[in-house]
Amino acid sequence: MSASNHSSAGASSPSAPSAPPPPAVPKSRIPFCPACGSPTKLAVPDGDEKMRAVCSSCGRVHYENPKMVVGCLVEHDNKVLLCRRKIEPAYGLWTLPAGYLEVGESAAEGASRETLEEACADVEIVSPFAQLDIPLIGQSYIIFRARMKTPSFSPGSESLECELFALDDIPFDSLAFSSIIVTLRMYIEDVKAGNIKFHYCTINKRIGAGPSDLRSFDIDNHLAVRETSAQQSHWSSIELVMGEGAFGHRMASGHICGRLFKLLLEL
Ligand SMILES: [Zn+2]
Repeated sequence: MSASNHSSAGASSPSAPSAPPPPAVPKSRIPFCPACGSPTKLAVPDGDEKMRAVCSSCGRVHYENPKMVVGCLVEHDNKVLLCRRKIEPAYGLWTLPAGYLEVGESAAEGASRETLEEACADVEIVSPFAQLDIPLIGQSYIIFRARMKTPSFSPGSESLECELFALDDIPFDSLAFSSIIVTLRMYIEDVKAGNIKFHYCTINKRIGAGPSDLRSFDIDNHLAVRETSAQQSHWSSIELVMGEGAFGHRMASGHICGRLFKLLLEL
């Protein structure tokens, strides 16, 4: 059905005036059909608006959706547990225990499992701390605050070492991912302000930033919900806050429902 890709401009010659490069043909990131193994091609299926990987043989449409990464911010004696990665990417750099959510488990279960795998720490979830979307790479992080059931940890097979860091000693120059930088900055700010909030934000890489340039990003759509209840784990009373955010951005206030929740919006 598609038009032939053969050029009608004739054979090219090394001495010919340089012609504009042919338009880049987008390639599917699902090159072969998971169902039958045949090559896929990019096409817009009927009723759809986006290019999808469509099997050239069986016609199945394969969708590429974001992946969810789940992890734990393990608190112990005013310190947090970090793991130094034994695997690529970011070999040798520090991270929170986190990884891809598996089918069949909840986000909280996945975060606990990753913490057990990477830090051999058996934890209980305290509360959700942050959801961070990274649209450019199709990832969404959910990070939970957690505590160790017994104060015991050691490096798992994917970690070189694990260590508890005081907040002032966190190795920000040796962190593995922008998501971890953002999470820990927000956490430190909250702890120092005496009120730990739940955060949502989008991490957008700046134009021209390379994959290893962890600091060229913007934080957008930052929402934070703070508890005023004495019971931190009981999400019943949440108050609006105004002021400087984790990244020095101006905050403005807003009300939602006027009842339980008030939100902090980063402009
Ligand atoms: Zn197929």
